Amino acid sequence: VTCPHLAEAAHATPPAAPDTQACPVCLADGYTDWVHLRQCLVCGQVGCCDSSPRRHASAHYAQTGHPVIRSIEPGESWRWCFVDEAIG
Ligand SMILES: [Zn+2]
Ligand SMILES: [Zn+2]
Ligand SMILES: [Zn+2]
Repeated sequence: VTCPHLAEAAHATPPAAPDTQACPVCLADGYTDWVHLRQCLVCGQVGCCDSSPRRHASAHYAQTGHPVIRSIEPGESWRWCFVDEAIG
């Protein structure tokens, strides 16, 4: 599977890792029950994964069209493209 978004992200300088391991949208709404955290590689926004109750990483893609996220879980380095549903 060739995904141009993942290929582009591989060449770009990734956004800095967030200072805190938290979903800011969940926190703003008073929740801390996310499962895993993802970071948008376009703008650096952190959101929670699709196993989380509120799925803010997917919501961010739906709102912005930013295609690629990465896992910021300790020890994980994979990336995901929402457009092509490809991992890289
Ligand atoms: Zn893609
Ligand atoms: Zn969240
Ligand atoms: Zn973004």
